[in-house]
Amino acid sequence: MSLDHASVPPVRTAQGPADPRAIYRSFVDELAADPDHEDLLDRMTDGHTPGEHGWCASPGHAAHWQRYPCSVVRLALLVTGTPVTPLQAAGPTPAAHPPARSA
Ligand SMILES: [Zn+2]
Repeated sequence: MSLDHASVPPVRTAQGPADPRAIYRSFVDELAADPDHEDLLDRMTDGHTPGEHGWCASPGHAAHWQRYPCSVVRLALLVTGTPVTPLQAAGPTPAAHPPARSA
C-alpha cells in the first residue's frame, strides 16, 4: 500500500489546522490503550537494535539510515511511557558514513 501524501488533506479542527504533535500524541495514546500493545510493540521493534557504528541495524531503514534509537524504537518507548532522555533521543554519535549493508 502506498500513501500519496499530496492527496491527503490536512487534519483540521473547528479552530483550524490540527497541531501535528497533538495528532502524534493521540496516536501514541491509542496504541498505549490497546491491551495487546506489548505484543504489537515487540513485533514492531524486532530487529531494531543498535549497530556497531550507532545506526539502527534494522534492514527496514535500508533506504534511510537512522541513528539508534530510531523512530520506531522511540515510538515504542513513548507508548510504554519510558522516558526518553535528550541524549537517547539524539542517539550515540554515529560514524560519518554508515557501513555498507550486506544483503
Ligand atoms: Zn530502527
